[in-house]
Amino acid sequence: MLIVPEREIADLMTREAAFSAVEQVFASMAAGDAYNFPVVREAIGHEDALYGFKGGFDRAGLTLGLKAGGYWPHNLEKRGMINHQSTVFLFDPDTGKAKAMVGGNLLTALRTAAASSVSIRHLAREDAKVIGMVGAGHQATFQLRAALEQRDFDKVIGWNLHPEMLPNLEKVAAEAGLPFEAVELEGMRAADVIISITSSFDAILMEEHVAPGTHIACMGTDTKGKQEVAPALLAKAAVFTDEVSQSVSIGEAQHAVAQGLIREADIAQLGAVINGAHPGRRSAEEITLFDGTGVGLQDLAVAAAVVDLAVEKGIAIEVDF
Ligand code: NAD
Repeated sequence: MLIVPEREIADLMTREAAFSAVEQVFASMAAGDAYNFPVVREAIGHEDALYGFKGGFDRAGLTLGLKAGGYWPHNLEKRGMINHQSTVFLFDPDTGKAKAMVGGNLLTALRTAAASSVSIRHLAREDAKVIGMVGAGHQATFQLRAALEQRDFDKVIGWNLHPEMLPNLEKVAAEAGLPFEAVELEGMRAADVIISITSSFDAILMEEHVAPGTHIACMGTDTKGKQEVAPALLAKAAVFTDEVSQSVSIGEAQHAVAQGLIREADIAQLGAVINGAHPGRRSAEEITLFDGTGVGLQDLAVAAAVVDLAVEKGIAIEVDF
């Protein structure tokens, strides 16, 4: 069995490799070649932790396995460790034998950033110039850095509930040589692409904050009850997602569907656009919205890519198992 420790991931994994792994697996899901297993997520009654498993099988990429982990809210204050902890386990689909164990913390950030980037590549207008960020936490910096590679953006604007975090975005914009402007939510109308990545449980982005022709990637809502966007915006937009069953249960669409504003059948898989089975954006005025809920197959895809890179570079640790 091969082990790729968390400490090696930063030097191994590139944004390009994460992008193509996620793009390919979204395509496989839409083609019916890959499927996600039901998600298990439990409050374990110890350290206030939420622990669970996200798994799946990609018959096209021959990737089988799961990501195990979750959220330990006291890690940072008690132990100086990050609160999100996860590990990916890959298995040989021919034999069931354990194949690899891979640190999953940085990979989670990279695969989530890759998902919104894939949505921008396939759904945003080609002439998009201004990118707007709603959220400025840990994940937001990864989302922004990856998104900036998808279009010829010339400005970053941002809003965050906690404005003291906005310099996180400004730093990423500066790295790319772009100006950054903090805006009120009304100011988001200047954006051609908006990424929302917060821990909000109430709608932040309303219909009047979004101009025609915008692409919105909603990335924060990954649990029942969370919400970042007004349901009316989903009713107005062409809605795409990674996995329809997750979109309507734990994703942004849960609210619009519960209110009867859209139906499950109105939501398309982003993979279908990648495969050419769905036309994607239909006009320069259309609002497109990607509901990125985060699927196990994304984790497996980036972990498999990192194992290949680790083997290539002689970094993977081999153990007899
Ligand atoms: P973080 O704690 O670093 O940042 C949280 C962000 O949310 C900050 O911008 C903060 O100001 C904002 N925020 C907090 N409470 C808010 C509220 N009530 N209203 C509006 N904004 C609020 O967290 P992170 O690591 O950046 O993760 C952000 C979110 O992304 C989390 O909800 C996480 O579960 C989600 N996430 C989703 C995926 C996916 O695949 N879809 C993957 C990873 C993380």
